Amino acid sequence: MTAMAEVTERKAQKNRKRRAAASTAPPSTSPPATGPPERLPYLLDLYPVESSTQTRLTPFFEALQRGRFTTTRCRKDGKLLWPPRVVCPICHTAELEWVDLPSTGRIYAFSAILAGAPVGQEGDLPRVVGLVEMDGSPLRLFGRLLGIDWRECRIGLPVRVEPITLPDGRTFYAFRVIR
Ligand SMILES: [Zn+2]
Repeated sequence: MTAMAEVTERKAQKNRKRRAAASTAPPSTSPPATGPPERLPYLLDLYPVESSTQTRLTPFFEALQRGRFTTTRCRKDGKLLWPPRVVCPICHTAELEWVDLPSTGRIYAFSAILAGAPVGQEGDLPRVVGLVEMDGSPLRLFGRLLGIDWRECRIGLPVRVEPITLPDGRTFYAFRVIR
C-alpha cells in the first residue's frame, strides 16, 4: 500500500467509526427548552411576517385568529392559489378574492424530525410534519402534525386545521390528528 493509500484508508476507517458511533448514540436526554429565544435569526424564523406594514397577506392571519382557514382565488381564471398571493402567478392579475378552505383533511405523507431542530427549538423534538390532502379540495398542504406520536403516525389519518399562537403573539396553523 502506498503512503497516500494508507492515509486514505486511515481516514475512511475513522469516518466509519464516527458514523457507527453516531448511529448507536442514545437519544438526547436534555430537558425540554422552556421556549424559543426572544428573537430567532431571521433565516431560522420559520413563520412569515404577518403585520400589514410587512405584507399584504395580513387577512390570512386575521382570519386564522378568528378560526377561519383561507386562501386567495384568482377572479379572472378561477385558480385556487396556495399559499395566498397578492398576484396570480398564472395570469398576473391582482384581482384576487379571499375564500375559505376546508378545515379537515387526511395525512398524505409525513416525516418525523428526531434531530436537527433549528436553533432555539432543540427541546421541541421529536416532531412530525406532513402533507395533508384537504377534504374536497385539490390542495395538499404542508404543516406540522400535532397530537400524534411519530411512531403511531399513519397515512390516511384524519386531521383538523388548528390555529396556533406563537410565543411572540403571531398566529400560524398546524394540523391536529382527530381521535
Ligand atoms: Zn389568474
